[in-house]
Amino acid sequence: MKIAFIGLGNMGGGMAANLVKAGHEVHAFDLAEAALAKAKENGCAPFSTVREAVAGVDAVVSMLPNGAIVESVYSADVIGQAPAGALLLDCSTIDVDTARKVAATAEAAGYQMVDAPVSGGIAAANGGTLTFMVGGTDNAFAKAEPILAAMGKAVIHAGASGAGQAAKICNNMLLGASMIATCETFRLAEKLGLDLQTFYDISSKASGQNWSMTSYCPVPGVGPQSPADNGYQGGFATALMLKDLRLAMAAAQSVGAQVPMGGKAEALYSALAEAGEGGRDFSVIIETL
Ligand code: NAD
Repeated sequence: MKIAFIGLGNMGGGMAANLVKAGHEVHAFDLAEAALAKAKENGCAPFSTVREAVAGVDAVVSMLPNGAIVESVYSADVIGQAPAGALLLDCSTIDVDTARKVAATAEAAGYQMVDAPVSGGIAAANGGTLTFMVGGTDNAFAKAEPILAAMGKAVIHAGASGAGQAAKICNNMLLGASMIATCETFRLAEKLGLDLQTFYDISSKASGQNWSMTSYCPVPGVGPQSPADNGYQGGFATALMLKDLRLAMAAAQSVGAQVPMGGKAEALYSALAEAGEGGRDFSVIIETL
């Protein structure tokens, strides 16, 4: 297939390279010259505008920073410019309302569009092991699945348009809150005189077990290898966790949902980012507790 890829940053760069490896002809566009040059090294054909990149393609994939950029790129340069019948896939993490609005505009112009945000970081994007949660019609999902499968280990249909974004922010709100709960629990265990490896051995087999503990332990030297063992470098940046928590809070407000733990997590991650920790992994929050 001919696929246009817009936004070749930390995530999109590796994803586009995996589409090339799967045999697709990838037309790349990014505002940053360096990102475009790297895409070229990885076998993509670089283009100097979005409009040129989407001309004649079967599908358009985007991996952009936020909803305002997604909306402006699609409304100005993709919808009405990509061939009729091209499938549109936005993999960025954005707010549910914008995802639905852009998809509705695309559908009114005769395109099929899915929101397909990802779980997994830069390593999963490079390794082709992302999990995609997809919002759109059954028909659009069926067309999107093989394209997404070339970049991930799991592609799940979450529901109608916007459902992929809804699943993503619900999951990440739970992750943010459970990471903080795990961190404060280890701090308390330490102050109560428990050996932390012993506490891990107990709790990881008891009812407190959760992913933040057993797959991503925030305590250096405890549990499997994680960013905590590397000075909290790499992994999932605090700034990105805060972005997702803010999207979750906006979504909760728009539907009148009560999310006291999510709200507290957002406040704590906001303070962490303001303290200059936006670039380190989100498990570094243990250092503030
Ligand atoms: P990034 O900043 O590294 O990449 C974004 C790219 O988009 C940049 O190369 C930038 O130049 C380009 N860009 C910005 N505006 C553009 C425009 N108008 N036209 C074309 N290109 C444009 O960000 P990232 O880490 O790759 O994240 C991308 C998306 O993936 C975000 O929505 C983020 O929330 C989501 N995400 C990131 C991670 C992660 O671990 N980094 C994990 C899951 C989801």
